[in-house]
Amino acid sequence: MNQQKISIITGGASGIGFAIAEKFTQRGIFTYIIGRNQEKLEEACRQLGENCAFMVFDLSKLDLLPNLVQQIMEKHGSIDILVNNAGINMKKPMVDVSNEDFQNIILTNLTSVFALTREVVKVMIPKGSGNIINISSMSAHYGLPQVIAYTASKSGVEGMTRAMAVELSPLGIRVNCIAPGFILTSMSSAALNGDPQRKARVLSRTPMGKLGMPEDVANAAYFLATDEAGFMTGTIIPVDGGNSIGF
Ligand code: NDP
Repeated sequence: MNQQKISIITGGASGIGFAIAEKFTQRGIFTYIIGRNQEKLEEACRQLGENCAFMVFDLSKLDLLPNLVQQIMEKHGSIDILVNNAGINMKKPMVDVSNEDFQNIILTNLTSVFALTREVVKVMIPKGSGNIINISSMSAHYGLPQVIAYTASKSGVEGMTRAMAVELSPLGIRVNCIAPGFILTSMSSAALNGDPQRKARVLSRTPMGKLGMPEDVANAAYFLATDEAGFMTGTIIPVDGGNSIGF
């Protein structure tokens, strides 16, 4: 029986997450998009069509995550793909970052990725299959100034990808990570617009000489989600126009 695959994409109402949701739904994967802003989710779902549903949920509410997974399981009986895409950034000199600032970023970008993945994996293990895709960042690959907490969180995501992959791959669950370079979204606009020096530096060390599009990341995510990537696990794939190897 060829059952429709069920996916969860956190932060699927905007930017990179939306592009991944678009790719998945167009390819027949039923997709739950998760975010805090109901209006944004409704509008995204309207655009994505019948293979999309949304849940308004703040991922920093760790205690409620089991309930989120349970609700989806009650409706569909299966979760095949989890894309841990939601994330927040904060750009300021490290001396101005309070402990609370730091913890907030870690909570959303790292702890919630662990906690949601743990809950989803609990329902994947009995089936003996599943697919986890994490989204990290170039900040985990080289030193990027003024994003200390974000860097710590994304470095953690890459480490967790490997740690998850060694535990879960023997159980049939592949775990991979995409490290996007600079992709045109509201997040990168907030970091780069108004800071022409930073933007010029980004472009000058990106051999392809431009920002990427959310669809570029979505194409890689879809590949990882399919059997075409069936022997890939524990990998960190840059989708960055060469930014990570640029001079
Ligand atoms: P956006 O700001 O467009 O998207 C982030 C999404 O995360 C939003 O839809 C937001 O939804 C959701 N989100 C944030 N916090 C929470 C939360 N507590 N609970 C639920 N949802 C939440 O950014 P991008 O599309 O650019 O970023 C997507 C991912 O890609 C992030 O992890 C980012 O770090 C990563 N990335 C982006 C790069 C870029 O250049 N754009 C480069 C490298 C990595 P809502 O506000 O409704 O909660």
